[in-house]
Amino acid sequence: TSVPARTLAVSGLTQRFGGFTALTDVSLTVGPGEVVGLLGPNGAGKTTLIDCVAGNNRLTAGSVTWDGADITRWAPYRRARAGLSRSFQSLELFDDLTVRENLLAAADPRDRSAYVVDLVRPGHPPLPAPVVAAVEELSLAPLLDRRAEDLSYGQRRLVAIARAVASSPSVLLLDEPAAGLDETESAELGRLVRRLADEWGMGVLLIEHDVALVLENADRVVVLDFGHKIAEGTPAEVRDDPAVRQAYLGE
Ligand code: ADP
Repeated sequence: TSVPARTLAVSGLTQRFGGFTALTDVSLTVGPGEVVGLLGPNGAGKTTLIDCVAGNNRLTAGSVTWDGADITRWAPYRRARAGLSRSFQSLELFDDLTVRENLLAAADPRDRSAYVVDLVRPGHPPLPAPVVAAVEELSLAPLLDRRAEDLSYGQRRLVAIARAVASSPSVLLLDEPAAGLDETESAELGRLVRRLADEWGMGVLLIEHDVALVLENADRVVVLDFGHKIAEGTPAEVRDDPAVRQAYLGE
C-alpha cells in the first residue's frame, strides 16, 4: 500500500506583511516520494512559506496548486483532508490520552472507522502502516500506553511528528522537526523521512535548521535568503554553491 500520488506546486509566491516583504517570487514543487529540503538562515522566510502552503497565510501574490488544481484560497482543514498535512506542534497533543490514542485520533477517518469495530474486541486496534513505521523508527513502542502529559519534551516532539504521519498524507510538511532532538533522535527522524518517501511514496517538505539532516536525507534542496530563492539542486550541488556558502558563512 502507498499514499495517493499528488504533486504540490508553489508558483510565484510573494508574501508581504505591511511594508515588509518576507517572500519574493518563490516557486517550488514536491512530488510523490520526494523529500525536498528547505534551508535558509534565520528570518529567510521558511516558516512563512510553510504557512502559505498549509493555508495559514493569505498570499500577497502567487498560487498553490495540488495536482494542478488551484488551492490557493482553501482553508487549512480542507487541504489536510485532501492529503496535505503539516506537523502538529507538540503542545497540540491530547494530554490525558495515551500516545496510542493520540496517534489514532489523528488517523484518517476512513481508516479510523475500521478501528471502532476493533475497539470492542480485546487487545489494541492496529495503527495505520506509516504510523507503525514512525513508531519503529522513532523508538516510540515503549511509550504507546503512556499518557501524553507524562512524557518529556523531546518525547512529546517525537509523538507530534508521528501524529503528523497518522493521516497518511500525500505530502507532509515538517516545520523544524529536529528542534530539541538529540543526535540519535535526529538520525532516527532522518531514517523515518526517507522511509515515508521510499516505502509509502509520501512527498515531504522538510524545513530544518539542521543543515546536515537535510543534506543527508533530501532528494532536492531549495535555499532561501531574505525571502528569495537563491539556490536549488541536489544536496551536493547546493553544498558547493557559492551563493549558499555566502548566505550561511559570509564567505
Ligand atoms: P524563518 O522561518 O526562515 O526563520 P520566517 O518565515 O519566520 O523566517 O520570517 C521571515 C521574515 O518575515 C522575518 O523577518 C519575520 O520577522 C517576518 N515575519 C514573519 N511573520 C510575520 C508577520 N505576521 N508580520 C510581520 N512580519 C513577519
